[in-house]
Amino acid sequence: MPTAVHARTTFSRDGDAPWCRGCGHADVFDVLCRALVASGIRPTDAVVVTGVGCSSLITFQLRSYAMHGVHGRALPLALGVKAANPDLHVVVAGGDGDAFSIGANHLIHTARKNPRLTYLIMDNQSYGMTMGQPSPTNVHGEHHALNALGVLLAAGATFVAQAASWRPDEAEALIGQALGHPGFSVVNLLSPCPTFHHGEGIDGAIGIPLVREIGSEHDLGDRLHALSVAFAEGVPCVGLLYRVERPMYALTEGSALVHEQWEETAILEALLDEHRVVWT
Ligand code: SF4
Ligand code: MG
Repeated sequence: MPTAVHARTTFSRDGDAPWCRGCGHADVFDVLCRALVASGIRPTDAVVVTGVGCSSLITFQLRSYAMHGVHGRALPLALGVKAANPDLHVVVAGGDGDAFSIGANHLIHTARKNPRLTYLIMDNQSYGMTMGQPSPTNVHGEHHALNALGVLLAAGATFVAQAASWRPDEAEALIGQALGHPGFSVVNLLSPCPTFHHGEGIDGAIGIPLVREIGSEHDLGDRLHALSVAFAEGVPCVGLLYRVERPMYALTEGSALVHEQWEETAILEALLDEHRVVWT
């Protein structure tokens, strides 16, 4: 494994991180840097695409190509990047609100299509950037909590794992496996928001929360059993829950289409430039 210092100097900008003290997202950022270095991916070969929210601040900290997108729309943006240049390693990062609320439609259909993208969901059960309102995965809100792993399995993701920001070595290993997966790989990262989320469960303010490890006897190709693990009562599970291979979304066709349309795009951009509004 690369040292944290080496990974940070390779993939992280200098200066203070943009997160509150104790935020799980900072730990997720560190393990992403380590997993990228361990996978032999260079900053010039990686693109990280995000939605909007505290988790998406990752793009400002990263020393690599990055795209801070629109709330809930990181997946289609990432698919466009991958279609335009299939050689790039495209990582999508976002929060639980981005993934399971405003972006849920994109998540379901991306999982169904199985493009080669790695999606890191930083799940703190809340909207940290707007002061901690409960998100769809919040188990203490007045509404029934959405089961993140259950949704991913049902939608057809071919690699589904869950990790915890306070267990960095395990999280790094799972992200590394996700980066190498030929298809749509998702790691749901339990990532506490100590500033606003003060309930039980994933709460850095009350100490290190409990998790249960997925047993090695679990068959990674058994989706029904994976669903039963995902829906089991009690503390959240961590580990690799499901991994299969099936045909990936035909990016070569998409890529060819992009390049065919390149000329038309240039004409359109010239027209838009003509009508650009300039603020003085
Ligand atoms: Fe992290 Fe919460 Fe602070 Fe956002 S508000 S940076 S999620 S601790
Ligand atoms: Mg959140």
